[in-house]
This record gives sequence, C-alpha cells and structure tokens, in this order.
Amino acid sequence: MTTAIPLKDITIFPVIEQQGAFFDVLEFFPTLTKEVLDENRSWLQPTFIDPASGRLVLCIQGFVIRTPHHNILIDSCVGNHKSRPARPFWNMMNSDRFEKGLAAAGVGVNDIDYVMCTHLHVDHVGWNTRLENGRWVPTFPKARYIMAEREFEHWTQREKENPASVPWITDSVLPIVAAKRVELVKSDFAFNEQVQFIPTPGHTIDHFSVLVGRPGADALITGDMIHSPLQGKYPDMGMMADYDSPQAGQTRRKVFDRFSEAPTLLCMSHFPMPSTYRVHRAGSGYKFAAT
Ligand SMILES: [Zn+2]
Repeated sequence: MTTAIPLKDITIFPVIEQQGAFFDVLEFFPTLTKEVLDENRSWLQPTFIDPASGRLVLCIQGFVIRTPHHNILIDSCVGNHKSRPARPFWNMMNSDRFEKGLAAAGVGVNDIDYVMCTHLHVDHVGWNTRLENGRWVPTFPKARYIMAEREFEHWTQREKENPASVPWITDSVLPIVAAKRVELVKSDFAFNEQVQFIPTPGHTIDHFSVLVGRPGADALITGDMIHSPLQGKYPDMGMMADYDSPQAGQTRRKVFDRFSEAPTLLCMSHFPMPSTYRVHRAGSGYKFAAT
C-alpha cells in the first residue's frame, strides 16, 4: 500500500523496495547507550524498533515526483542482481517491488526524465542500472541522472583506490557515467521553482535533500540526513556510516529549525511507512507528528 502525497499540481509517490528490521540499534548508533535506548524503547516499539529482534525497522524507498512537466525519481534503492556480500539482506536481490512501486505511481522506466541521488550510498543508487546481457545499463533509458559534484568525486575516487570496498559505485554509478547520463551540480542546485536541493552534509560529504512544491504546499525529501526519530530527540546522535557525525548533527538542527511548526511535510526516507511527518521543537531536540 502506497500513499500518494498531493501538493497542488505536484504529486509525490513513495516507491518502496523493502521494509524490515535490518540493523542492531546499538551498532547502528555507535554513541547510543543501552540505558538511553531502554528509556526510549516504549515509544520506539513496535514501529521503529522490532520488539522480537530488537533491531531498527527501516524502509528502503525512493520517491517519484510527478510535476506537470517532468517525472523525477529521487533515490533508486538497492536494485536487483547486485553482489553485496557485506549486506546479506541486499545481496543479489531479485524482487519486483520497485517496479510495482513505479507502476503504482503511474510510470514505467521509460517515463522517468530525471533521477536525483541524494547521496551515493548503496541503498540510494541501485536501480540506476539494471543487468542486460551481462552488462549494467541505465534502468531509465531517457533519464538524466543528477548527482552532487563533491559527492561524485569522493566516491569515484574511492572506487579507483579500492573498488572492492564500493561495489555499488562500480555497478550503479560508473555505467551511468559511461552512458553519458550524469549531470553534476552543486548541492544547492535549483532544478526549477518547485524542485530545489538543500545541502544536508554530514551523513555523506555532499548529501542533499530535495524541497518540492511551493510555500504552503511543499515537502522535503530528507534522504539520509536522519534515520530514526531518536535522532530528532537527540539531534547530535550519529549513525555508523556517517562521513562526519558532528556535521550531520548540525545539519539536523538547521533543517528541523527551519521547518519546525511549518506546514512542510517531511518525507523521511528511511522511516517505516507511512514516512511522512511534520516537525516540532521539543526540549533540546525535535519530535515528529504523523500526518
Ligand atoms: Zn540510506
């Protein structure tokens, strides 16, 4: 079940590839103590923490933005047939859920005009490509793929130095470069009046979030500037894959201050579905109200 988010002449469709209890909470948030976790367990379970396994429940999703002029995909999840030995639950996936999610949004792969990757982690670039006769080719044959310049440079450099450490760059980013489909932009890029990037660095070097719509009828696709509402209560709490956790904390405070008490909907990419909230200040942090 996918719930579309209407914003006047734009509609946002979540495209969900997976939802599950993937990670141990204390490993995922290295500075979180068992005591603080236990204090918060009652409001986190069962939606955000699975009581049976004690693991963090995450959604893996992208968003199709349908505007009067363009169909845009923001983030492309994990993808099929990709070797991810470090992550068994994402290894060699063979699922039709992403494609079905596109269909529920009323689009197929030929209808996507732009793919925008908030950052270049494994669960945000996978469907950039698909396997065809043993080769990785762009999944969306007509799309331009928009990425942040410094983010792109960071990851392609790592790929050069140690390709085995970033297989998703090899199979899901470089083939897009080879097909001449990449457009590199600054992370404050304004695609048009109704689709604008907001730099949200910290989780990765040049991460961006995407503000969609017009004031009064808008939504922010957060990407991975936050993974759990615990990081609203404790904005400085980093997660294990952060590039710069203190900077990620500053980013959360800045973004949540900006949108506190505003009508802007926050589409929290990794929160379990339905992942749409409004943000309010609460104590020294923030809390999120479901919409
Ligand atoms: Zn992610």
